[in-house]
Amino acid sequence: MKTNSEGARAIAAVIIVNLGLFLAVVTLPSFQAAHHHWIFPVFAALLAAQWALTFIPSPADRLVDRRALRASVVSLLVLLLVVGIARHATILACFDRCSFKLAAAAAIAGCVFLGHLWTRDEGFWNPPRASLAAIASWLWALSLVLRGLNLAPWLSDLLFVILALLLWLGRDRAAFLIASLGILIALAVRATANEYAIIGLSVVWSVALPLWAAPRVEAFIAGRRVLPAPAEAVAEPLGRKVLMSVMRIAGAVAVIAGIARFVVGPLSLVTDPAKRRAYLAARAPASSERDPGTLTPLAARLRAHVLMLSRTIGERDAYHPKGRERARDYVLANFKEAGYSPKALPYGSRWMRDVKNGTSFQNVEAVLSVRAPRPRGSWVIGAHYDSAPGTPGADDNASGVAVLLEVARLLKERAPGREVRFVAFGTEEPPSFGTRNMGSWQYASGLKDDGVAVHGVIVLEMLGYYNPRPGSQLYPPFMQLFYPDHGDFVGAVGNIASRALLGEFGASWKRASRFPLTSSVLPGPFAGLALSDQLNFWDLGFPALMLSDTAFYRNANYHEASDLPETLDYEKMAEVAKALAAAVEESPD
Ligand SMILES: [Zn+2]
Repeated sequence: MKTNSEGARAIAAVIIVNLGLFLAVVTLPSFQAAHHHWIFPVFAALLAAQWALTFIPSPADRLVDRRALRASVVSLLVLLLVVGIARHATILACFDRCSFKLAAAAAIAGCVFLGHLWTRDEGFWNPPRASLAAIASWLWALSLVLRGLNLAPWLSDLLFVILALLLWLGRDRAAFLIASLGILIALAVRATANEYAIIGLSVVWSVALPLWAAPRVEAFIAGRRVLPAPAEAVAEPLGRKVLMSVMRIAGAVAVIAGIARFVVGPLSLVTDPAKRRAYLAARAPASSERDPGTLTPLAARLRAHVLMLSRTIGERDAYHPKGRERARDYVLANFKEAGYSPKALPYGSRWMRDVKNGTSFQNVEAVLSVRAPRPRGSWVIGAHYDSAPGTPGADDNASGVAVLLEVARLLKERAPGREVRFVAFGTEEPPSFGTRNMGSWQYASGLKDDGVAVHGVIVLEMLGYYNPRPGSQLYPPFMQLFYPDHGDFVGAVGNIASRALLGEFGASWKRASRFPLTSSVLPGPFAGLALSDQLNFWDLGFPALMLSDTAFYRNANYHEASDLPETLDYEKMAEVAKALAAAVEESPD
């Protein structure tokens, strides 16, 4: 048996050893130069070695006992916190370079903790601590794998929200309860986009919760399981008793009926693509295409853009480099014709491995500058010009690009009070979707790096499909209570941080046009359901909204070979283009 002073000496020894190692590493000349992305794996290996030591049975006179190892883990993590705060940029770069190796290390650490759980040791690594440490290690491993796959952060967030909800189901176990709440808190902190806060919280989360909270929460849960003895029942009059139970049953029936009517129905249509397509196709407008000769000039121009992109050029996705190049050249030529000096902004990624030829991808940008007495934040208006693989992409998104080109032309003749940046994004659809290979991610991070002041971003995502028939518009659950059931409007969607922009834009639109616009602010993870380029702008902290015909909630041809130019309504698109140009032009200070 060791005395306390021996234990304290061992703790001090381990802290000193860790400090020494740390100082040796950071003072190495090679650490000061070039990349030092290996620093994280080195510390991870040290950490794993120290964890592993706790499980090796040692003679009684061992130097390092469990208390000392506890201190070693804490000291290492504190050091990592210091390194993280001092060098967060390089540490984050290291996450990118070594994410798979780090994920493997974290997964192994999780298995070690799980193995320890089975020994039922009631010492320091007691079951609640060990199981929480195992879950935390695996969550780290998962987040590193997602980072390694180049996933856009908002998609990882969505996955982690689902994970938190699943863990919540096991909330009568301390580890699951803490993990579930921990994920939600971490996501809330991530939303602040403050890297110091994120790294700090991550370390607190890996150290403080396993060490401190788990046994206490476990005891709390165990205490609550012992129910207090029921109080002596007070005799109630029979009539009142019957009335109460009738009201309870009626209440339950009303709740179930409400859920069936407003959740199950719409959810089954939205989650079952074949059913949704059949429902929408049965309500498709008889024929929306008018005789092209009768179109107004603006509608005719929009139609010409859509025909060129979706019929003449056709597929223009990551697997059709020729189609993509022709689409890019068409956008460039149209910006030039409208009097701009457009630029192609190339980007590429080692992760585009499934793409033949290794060609680079390009956003196309045309800037309408203003000579304002004082600079004001710019508008950014964007639309992706690629198509979903296997589809001609008339509505998705030749319609958005057509409106982009015509709004650029309309605004060139006027003099808006703010700079407007028109951008056609090179990649939005799979295989780029949800990754940092999306053209909008590349463009938004460029804006952020250059410190461009942005007033608001408007993403044009499918603007050509309209249907006045009743029942032709679907919604996510409950939203049908507040919005029209026929699909002849344009929807603007923002997240909570963009609600001021959404309000201002909606007001400008309504002053300029009678074309119906519905605005919705989607909170938190629900905003992620609006699957398009604005997600990347939100993620990088820009106010942004998506303008759309609501895609698969209205158009049965969404991501199908039947997404053809003859299904679009060009006069309505012309109304949308005019309203958008007017709303942007008259935006207040
Ligand atoms: Zn799209």
